[in-house]
Amino acid sequence: MKVLVLGAGVVGTATAYFLAEDGHQVTVLDRQPAPGLETSFANGAQISACHAKPWAAPHVPGQAFMWMFKPDAPLLFKPWRWDPPLWSWGLKFLRNCTPDRLRTNMERTLRVALYSRAVLKALRQRTNIQYDQLTQGILHIYRTADEFAEGRATGAQLAALGLPQDVLTPDECVRVEPALAHVAKSDLVGGLLSSEDESGDAQKFTTELAKLAAARGVVFRNNVTIKRIEPLHGRVTRVITDSGDEEADAFVLALGSYSPHFARDLGLHLPVYPAKGYSITVEVENPAGAPTVSVTDETNFMVFSRLGNKLRVAGTAELAGWNTSLDPTRVEPLVRNAKSLFPAASSYSALHPWCGLRPATPDSVPILGATPYANLFINTGHGTLGWTMACGSGRIIADLIAGRTPEIDMDGLGLSRF
Ligand SMILES: Cc1cc2nc3c(=O)[nH]c(=O)nc-3n(C[C@H](O)[C@H](O)[C@H](O)COP(=O)(O)OP(=O)(O)OC[C@H]3O[C@@H](n4cnc5c(N)ncnc54)[C@H](O)[C@@H]3O)c2cc1C
Repeated sequence: MKVLVLGAGVVGTATAYFLAEDGHQVTVLDRQPAPGLETSFANGAQISACHAKPWAAPHVPGQAFMWMFKPDAPLLFKPWRWDPPLWSWGLKFLRNCTPDRLRTNMERTLRVALYSRAVLKALRQRTNIQYDQLTQGILHIYRTADEFAEGRATGAQLAALGLPQDVLTPDECVRVEPALAHVAKSDLVGGLLSSEDESGDAQKFTTELAKLAAARGVVFRNNVTIKRIEPLHGRVTRVITDSGDEEADAFVLALGSYSPHFARDLGLHLPVYPAKGYSITVEVENPAGAPTVSVTDETNFMVFSRLGNKLRVAGTAELAGWNTSLDPTRVEPLVRNAKSLFPAASSYSALHPWCGLRPATPDSVPILGATPYANLFINTGHGTLGWTMACGSGRIIADLIAGRTPEIDMDGLGLSRF
């Protein structure tokens, strides 16, 4: 079968790879000169099933309100801007801020994340793909007793759903991550270790996986901008681009935050809104001062991942439309916190700041699977966990296109839930 994958981020590339393993004739379209150059480029690098707790939670509306007027807040949201897509997304988000919805959404996200982590591990074993991966787990650190208690409560919910975590004292945190020794006594109350989670460079992974896919015959058409998707009689017939039309038997929409624009042409409403996040990448000048375990600072909503001789620090979210300009005010908290947690790792003089648009759904669950168009499949809306969920999501779409039943229950993961 000829399959056209729209988008060569980590999600589209993983989909193309698994379709190629099934023997399909696959073409991937992307406007960038190579795969993985938009949101998949410099993210937090965590394979973090442990972060399956959705953003929408009972306390979040109040907290977001308090942050509205703080330009360096971890979550910045300005509802007074003229932005109908944000208002529509925000109303759906509010409807998900109940304890029941929280539990349901956490289970759905974790279902995909755990499956995806297993698919990634199996893929690594099969192909020996290398992407600066570290497999020592993710350490969550807490600075206050209240946050630690809340973290343990979430940990208990995750454990009941299949993701166990170890509860650690500050000293045990230092045994796991010696570079935290200087903060352990004064500034840590404890930690949680998700030992099966991992980290690795999503862009490197995407590049390497694209090579493996190309070796199986996948054609990557880079520098091609998609203009519109054309339907006829309940099927998609072709995709119009700035360099010719592409026809196929099946189509996969994996355009990240830009997916809703193209779904709209087909009369489909995809509640995906960009949640802009930032990262910095610095050279590690003193390896003993830099982490070797991926760390999540639960107080400041930031993640730290060691990628070879580099340290990646990522965080913050801003709901401000499809705007990719880099605001130094949002970078500064990342630098400040990195210097405070890992002062000896680097002089932090040569920073590589970056921002990207997470394709966020109001319930934090991705949108996977079939559409009202018989030959159009959706693989988007992975929000904060697109790297974590890319391999599993790609495998699921390949299964659906092959007519196989996916290996996990698809209940609650599709577009029909909205
Ligand atoms: C600061 C930050 C930290 C993050 N940390 C983590 C983390 O630690 N772990 C994790 O799991 N996830 C993390 N994420 C989320 C993760 O990066 C995303 O969910 C993931 O990259 C989304 O992948 P994607 O393939 O759907 O989108 P993208 O990577 O954006 O791919 C979409 C592709 O579509 C192409 N495209 C768009 N429009 C067109 C068009 N008209 N024509 C042609 N091509 C087009 C783009 O060029 C792009 O290559 C983070 C995100 C950010 C911003």
